[in-house]
Amino acid sequence: MAHYLGLIENYRDRLPVDENTPVVSLCEGNTPLIELKNLPQRLGKNVRIYAKFEGLNPTGSFKDRGMTMAVTKAVEAGAKAIICASTGNTSAAAAAYAARAGIACFVLIPEGKIALGKLAQAMMHGALVIQIRGNFDDGMRLVQLAAETTGVALVNSINPFRPQGQKTVAFEVIEALGDAPDYHALPVGNAGNIGAHWAGYSEMACEQTKACAYCDGKCPFHREKLATRRPIMVGYQASGAAPIVHGKPVENPETVATAIRIGNPASWELALNAQRESGGWFAECTDEEILAAQKLLAQTEGVFCEPASAISIAGITKDLEEGRIREGATIVCTLTGHGLKDPDTAIGQCVKPLTVDAELPEIERLIRQNLPKA
Ligand SMILES: *Cc1c(COP(=O)(O)O)cnc(C)c1O
Repeated sequence: MAHYLGLIENYRDRLPVDENTPVVSLCEGNTPLIELKNLPQRLGKNVRIYAKFEGLNPTGSFKDRGMTMAVTKAVEAGAKAIICASTGNTSAAAAAYAARAGIACFVLIPEGKIALGKLAQAMMHGALVIQIRGNFDDGMRLVQLAAETTGVALVNSINPFRPQGQKTVAFEVIEALGDAPDYHALPVGNAGNIGAHWAGYSEMACEQTKACAYCDGKCPFHREKLATRRPIMVGYQASGAAPIVHGKPVENPETVATAIRIGNPASWELALNAQRESGGWFAECTDEEILAAQKLLAQTEGVFCEPASAISIAGITKDLEEGRIREGATIVCTLTGHGLKDPDTAIGQCVKPLTVDAELPEIERLIRQNLPKA
């Protein structure tokens, strides 16, 4: 297999780049699509569930897909600095890609409300980290104004190149499964990703006919196996931060899933469009449901995602129980970020390690006590 060089190189003919574009990449994308073998049995449902584990991107979240495009295009346009507001992962990705490109990075984060790993990343990659006494929505408003007055390039998902990079997740799912799944579930925060997924699926599904109408079978789109259909898109929000579910902004969003602690999503309309066109829906999960799903996934499948990502699992669990997702279906859940991003929340849910003297009998006793029953 050829050396994988990142999603821009991989999908060059589907992205707004040309041979002179200076690609800024950390070999993002190409993440595993893991079939969850134990979960359907646990739920007592005859379905196939796959996790698209975006936590295995270079900075540990799907934000790398958008950031490789946004930073590449910013550098192409001559930018010397980028700025973003973030609940954590955007700042980690922006900082890393800016470091790679040799440009400056400014990030606005809500004070005390970002997961430890994400803060460490932004700091370590050399971004100027600005904590604001406010939430993500305040940050979003401020970076748009600051980008305008200072001329620094804005790399939040309202940057049109972000969704271009993010749409490639759908290409990879289709390549892995041979077609689109029946359902695609994901968390919804600022709401850019659900629209990007939908754009990717739509591109793959419609070019089949478009390409045939315009070419003799030799156009670039004929190289890949295209999709015959598009999935039903299902978006989940945390109960304390569910503006789209309830149809109105939330003034003070609160949830343990800090990546989706957003009260007034920037891409609200695009998200609604994806839901409507696909015949999907939005629903909410409580923090308890989110944390239970995170732990269940870690302990029954060996996949450790961050709380926001686990909402896909919490959500489909409920929708399967309620019969909203039908038996026999193939479901893909995007696990947007890695569990290591937020060690505090993970440790807080688990029993503390035991401490014993360094003596064999103690160890033996604990092993015997805790062995699975025959
Ligand atoms: C950014 C992020 C989300 C939300 O994505 P949107 O495009 O803002 O809806 C979900 N989960 C994780 C881990 C994220 O970093």
